[in-house]
Amino acid sequence: MIRTRPMAIVSEAGVITFQDMPLPELGPSDVLIKVKVVTICGSDLHIFKGKHPAVDLPAPVGHEIAGEIVTVGDSVSRVSVGDRVAVEPALVCDRCVFCLRGDYHLCRHISFQYRRGQGGFTPYFVADQRWVHQLAENASYLEGALIEPMSVCVHAVRRANPGFGDNVAIFGDGAIGLFTLQAAQLAGASSIYLAGIGEQRLTKALALGATGVVNSLQADPVAYLREQTDGLGVDRSFEAVGIRQTLVQSLQSLKKGGTAVLIGLFEQPDVSLPANIFVQQEIGLLGSQGYAWDFQRTLDLIASGRVQLDAIVTHHFPLDQVQQAFDLLMQADTPAIKVAVIVDED
Ligand SMILES: [Zn+2]
Ligand SMILES: [Zn+2]
Repeated sequence: MIRTRPMAIVSEAGVITFQDMPLPELGPSDVLIKVKVVTICGSDLHIFKGKHPAVDLPAPVGHEIAGEIVTVGDSVSRVSVGDRVAVEPALVCDRCVFCLRGDYHLCRHISFQYRRGQGGFTPYFVADQRWVHQLAENASYLEGALIEPMSVCVHAVRRANPGFGDNVAIFGDGAIGLFTLQAAQLAGASSIYLAGIGEQRLTKALALGATGVVNSLQADPVAYLREQTDGLGVDRSFEAVGIRQTLVQSLQSLKKGGTAVLIGLFEQPDVSLPANIFVQQEIGLLGSQGYAWDFQRTLDLIASGRVQLDAIVTHHFPLDQVQQAFDLLMQADTPAIKVAVIVDED
């Protein structure tokens, strides 16, 4: 019986150490997962820098997890030993008004596994059966790990609720920007423009079907988007960076009556906004928080072959090189887009 497992912890800003963490006893509805692949999220980087607004160091990291079930508790019926699964890392109370009406992502007591001491960069992970989702036969463990970030984007596009044939702008060329691009395509957007600062990432956006891309270091993306849309602007915009400049741009690039959706996490949340354009242009700004029932949608999208999630993964590292994987993503001109840690090769 395994009693402890090594787990990657951000012990101080910029430093990952492996610590032996106790493996919780399996409850009746829990499953024990042999972790296969964990991908690194933008929010992991906020923690790594010590700048996550809701997480103090030291803290475990890693919540984009796929693996194989190796043991199940006595009352587990949804899944079985040997199943290949993705883990939904949320933890909710099941009793508040939001949980009771199905909006569990808004739970008054929402938490996440990594905030309760269980990060993903570890060989074994324990989760309640309700939070594990079986992968389709054609889905790899890598795609399984990427269901979490894709679910964020599926949720954000559902929040934006674009009309058929609407045009869309995305600010941010990271994994969330590139996955939002794919989700917006599936939602029936006509033209999708993406603004970013990494040439390689912008090239990837074009390969994934973006109508046009703009490098915000070289051109004003708002002017570019006006030019592309006959001066009208776009119906829907997405902010997937988390800084004031791109938030303002996502508002300024909207068509009158349009809606911007905020996905990015702000390290400095007190930003000033041009308030009058909300009234003058009759635009809206919505937030999008995580996911609720979006893992199931993403699982189906993968099964149907309509998304290519692993196309944005540029680098793989073994478990003992989590530090190097984070260092690579922190480099100023990093060649990495999405980085995967292969915890177990088989
Ligand atoms: Zn994530
Ligand atoms: Zn709740």
